[in-house]
Amino acid sequence: MTTGPSARTSGAPRSFVVHTLGCPKNQVDSDKLVGMLVADGLSPAHDTAEADMVVVNTCAFVEEARQESIDAILALAEAKAPDASLVVTGCLAERYGDELAEALPEVDRIAGFGMTLTADLAAAAPSRRGAPPVPAAISSRRSPDPDAVAARHGRSARPVAVEPRHAGPVRPVAVEAPIRRPARPVPEFDLLNLPRPRSPRPWAYVKIAEGCDRACGFCAIPSFRGPQRSRTVEQILAEVEQLDAAEIVLVAQDLASYGRDQGRGERRIVPLVEAVSARVSRTRLLYLYPSDLNDALIDAICATGVPYFDLSLQHVSRPLLRRMRRWGDGERFLARIEAIRRRAPEAAFRSNFIVGYPGETEDDHDRLLRFVEEAQLDWCGFFAYSEEAGTHSATLAGKVDEALRAERLAELGEMQDAITAGRRDLLIGRRVEVLVDEPGVGRTHREAPEIDGIVNVPTALAAGTFAEVTVTAAAGCDLEAA
Ligand code: SF4
Repeated sequence: MTTGPSARTSGAPRSFVVHTLGCPKNQVDSDKLVGMLVADGLSPAHDTAEADMVVVNTCAFVEEARQESIDAILALAEAKAPDASLVVTGCLAERYGDELAEALPEVDRIAGFGMTLTADLAAAAPSRRGAPPVPAAISSRRSPDPDAVAARHGRSARPVAVEPRHAGPVRPVAVEAPIRRPARPVPEFDLLNLPRPRSPRPWAYVKIAEGCDRACGFCAIPSFRGPQRSRTVEQILAEVEQLDAAEIVLVAQDLASYGRDQGRGERRIVPLVEAVSARVSRTRLLYLYPSDLNDALIDAICATGVPYFDLSLQHVSRPLLRRMRRWGDGERFLARIEAIRRRAPEAAFRSNFIVGYPGETEDDHDRLLRFVEEAQLDWCGFFAYSEEAGTHSATLAGKVDEALRAERLAELGEMQDAITAGRRDLLIGRRVEVLVDEPGVGRTHREAPEIDGIVNVPTALAAGTFAEVTVTAAAGCDLEAA
């Protein structure tokens, strides 16, 4: 989807489109890039072919995500006007900037985190103007993500930002250079506090911190996103008010650790959740590291009226979790889930798991299967382990054969599909409150936007409103309601 009329011009870019790949945190960055470009006087273009500047906000979480980003760049290089600029930003640009510059001559600018998009593009942007109008120039078919991270604390890696008609040839590009700790410090100027337009949807992501202080064995995020840097409560609340959305989805690499880098006091997750919740109808939290899900946070989440718990579990086998350099085990996780269910019977749960981490045994896999059966989570993502250069796991012995990984994934996926369908069936006949995202599409507290299922509601219900509806049927992830 692109919007905003603007004729293409030669010279300095006057119009733009932004294509977004990857996780919700990348979408937030794209929203801010759009806000910055509009404030700089550029206009959203109708589509890629009409834009003076085509921006690709990339993802580099795993090999599949990198290849999707490269495919998108190549397809957009073909789809754009011949004299338009192609700018690549985001994680791939940050992490593999030199390799990309060498391998992709069709790219005019590689902009890592905090770098301006228009420099060196015959730019000279007009002076900044006041509050930007609502732009919608982001052509994004984003994917939910696999760990907060990217990070994916583990969600599916779906493609991506290129409209089908733009699909182009795939050219293999090697971006497997070893991960290095950034040679330069992580930029002080990052995307956290750039201007952001009012949300064009009834919900919006808000990033509350950047970076991560943990060292999970499979994850390269800290090596290029840097240590955790939390925004202040004031900055976050100002953005929440600016977005003017009914539902705010708080995201970060490690959400429950919010504020730890700033010391205690007001910069802690619980008072933040309370403050956001006092301003919007729905506050939803994504990516909770399980050790930080304490009673105070559980109470705060329940008090928002959105008892939705997105737990980044990754596995349940204690020895394997230690090899992942992560906390916990299946028994602790189950005890916590049961305690939450006692506290809030309507609570919905999502989690994600990595399958085939080095050293994963049949016994580990069986434990995970038993956990999935017992936990009866509403939503789960299972992701094949992907070796990332420079991570601890890349040094481990016991690589799991690809065919075995696929077999385990299929087994888990099949089991969870049945559980999810069963939990959706239980809602048939129930009255539920939905937020109408667009005509015909709503969500209860059980469905996070873009990640979980939806509720198909009567088209007469206006977008942005809340409505009570009765669930009449279920089909896989989605519900029908009247
Ligand atoms: S290091 Fe761990 S907690 Fe931090 S982003 Fe990576 S997976 Fe998430």
